[in-house]
Amino acid sequence: MPIYEFTCLNCHNLFEELVFGEKPSYIRCPKCQSEQVQRCLSQVFSKVGSGETAKSSTTSCGSSGFS
Ligand SMILES: [Zn+2]
Repeated sequence: MPIYEFTCLNCHNLFEELVFGEKPSYIRCPKCQSEQVQRCLSQVFSKVGSGETAKSSTTSCGSSGFS
């Protein structure tokens, strides 16, 4: 089962959820219960591995790079 990373747009909390459908509209931030979450493709991270291109393409999902 796919586990995706989500970033909360409200409190910038990073969390993981199991996702069964393509539209995880039911996902809520476990910290502030906000529905304003953005899905991050963490699987891309592990796939690329070395990280150079992955880092530049996923900055919006980074734990600290959410400017
Ligand atoms: Zn939150």
